[in-house]
Amino acid sequence: MASEPCDVCERNVRIAGGIGDLWNFAFESTQGLTLELVDGSEFFLCFDCMERLPEEREPTAADVEALRARTDPVEEDDDSLWHWG
Ligand SMILES: [Zn+2]
Repeated sequence: MASEPCDVCERNVRIAGGIGDLWNFAFESTQGLTLELVDGSEFFLCFDCMERLPEEREPTAADVEALRARTDPVEEDDDSLWHWG
């Protein structure tokens, strides 16, 4: 498993990497993905932050920046990814 920090909340997000183990793959293999915006910029966002982007139109880099500005960074280490609630 690999992880990458979300560009908005800075949380370490688990992403599917390599073969991984089947249980995780079946349960929830990925918690974020790279967004390619209409203006050509790319951001890696967790699903939580992605849901907070505008839905009525294509999000732009400015929307991501605005979301980041009103989001407090989350401090989390890799171990906490395994605490389910
Ligand atoms: Zn995030």
